[in-house]
Amino acid sequence: MAQNPNKKQVTEITDMEVDFAQWYTDVCKKAELIDYSSIKGMFIYRPYGYAIWENIQKELDKKFKETGHENVAMPMLIPESLLQKEKDHVEGFAPECAWVTYGGGEKLEERYCIRPTSETLFCEHFKNIIHSHRDLPKKYNQWCSVLRWEKTSRPFLRHREFLWQEGHTMHATEEEAREETQRMLNIYADFMENVLAMPVVKGRKTDKEKFNGAEETYTVECMMHDRKALQAGTSHYFGDGFAKAFDITFTGKDNQLHNPHQTSWGVSTRMIGGIIMTHGDNNGLVLPPRIAPVQAMVIPVAQHKEGVLEAASKLLERLQAAGIRAKMDDSDQSMGWKAAEYEMKGVPLRVEIGPKDMEKDQCCVCRRDSGEKVFVPLAQLEDTVKRLLDEVHQSLFERAKKNLEEHTKVCMTLEEVKEFMETEGGFAKTMWCGDLECELKMKEEAGVSSRCMPLVQEQVSDICVCCGKPAKHMIYWGVAY
Ligand SMILES: [Zn+2]
Repeated sequence: MAQNPNKKQVTEITDMEVDFAQWYTDVCKKAELIDYSSIKGMFIYRPYGYAIWENIQKELDKKFKETGHENVAMPMLIPESLLQKEKDHVEGFAPECAWVTYGGGEKLEERYCIRPTSETLFCEHFKNIIHSHRDLPKKYNQWCSVLRWEKTSRPFLRHREFLWQEGHTMHATEEEAREETQRMLNIYADFMENVLAMPVVKGRKTDKEKFNGAEETYTVECMMHDRKALQAGTSHYFGDGFAKAFDITFTGKDNQLHNPHQTSWGVSTRMIGGIIMTHGDNNGLVLPPRIAPVQAMVIPVAQHKEGVLEAASKLLERLQAAGIRAKMDDSDQSMGWKAAEYEMKGVPLRVEIGPKDMEKDQCCVCRRDSGEKVFVPLAQLEDTVKRLLDEVHQSLFERAKKNLEEHTKVCMTLEEVKEFMETEGGFAKTMWCGDLECELKMKEEAGVSSRCMPLVQEQVSDICVCCGKPAKHMIYWGVAY
């Protein structure tokens, strides 16, 4: 029979209630997701961490292609003259740029920026390939890494170099481009909720928080276990600003020249940080089954006894044949070690079989999220494991949703926001006049930044939480990663 995991073997990680930041770092390292490199702020994605990213990629790439997008690959260097074509864009990114100034031992005539994002490269290309309304829409995406010279860094949340995807599209009309912006926001929201089990608040960013050069930025915001906010994905509507700056034109059906309307949208390996901080617990990582590199770990119990290894191998084969990502650990580590190890790594299900189970034609399935153990008749193995994986997903989602709902509070005054943030923390839901001055004051006095103006608006009062003038929007505030 399975032993209970010996907790002492795993609790080399900090208690999350004592020091959440240290708990997070411990999990990233102990679950073997990431390692530090010799360059500050640049991390190594280890196989287990990278496998999570690969599963995220697979799921999202499918959605992008289903909605008519094509993958491309752009250069990683941007000539300075190109970057400078759009004023807001270059001003926003200038402090974080890293430059290449030498090539082949010689000083370059023009320095090249290592891409922090690729709008300018896409625009240069779009100018060359868009001439007629027949060339539109162009719906491109690229999977790549980008570089932003951040001053501080944290695994997955803030890297100088990180992996992401960036979608860039051009459309004949404003209406089409706006539709695209919303479509991609919804794809992200569905993905976070239905694959990552992370409930989201969908909304629009304020002018202060929007992307450099965008007309409007939409976001999906998530609440982490410590009640801080994580911006998990963004979708931008650019209007024709870049198109004008880069002189991109097309001949319309009316035979006149027009500027196309543009969008861009992206998510990054930051989402992995979100998964850790949404679902993890004091035993380590808890992975949502739909992106877990290993969904079920088969462990033979008393494997030296006759027939046990064969029975366990048979289980593994059946699970794999049913399309479940399963592995087996028949190493000589103890049962306690194995249980602790796969808890730490957040494997959704452990499937154990030993001599007693074999006598009864059953195996024992243990859930990572709840610790619950279920004896499963071997005849029902595949169906039960699939059902349990769905149940784990659902219960992770419900738990995170409860956290989000319980810690979102309607506040009427700045004082109330301050007190809420000091005592409990979470999302403060208020009305806002729309003025930058109030947004800055909220930051200064309550330590919160605006998260988003939710797409579903409510009228929680008539006046701005900060200045008392008539309110224009309902808005969420929080402390963000
Ligand atoms: Zn105000």
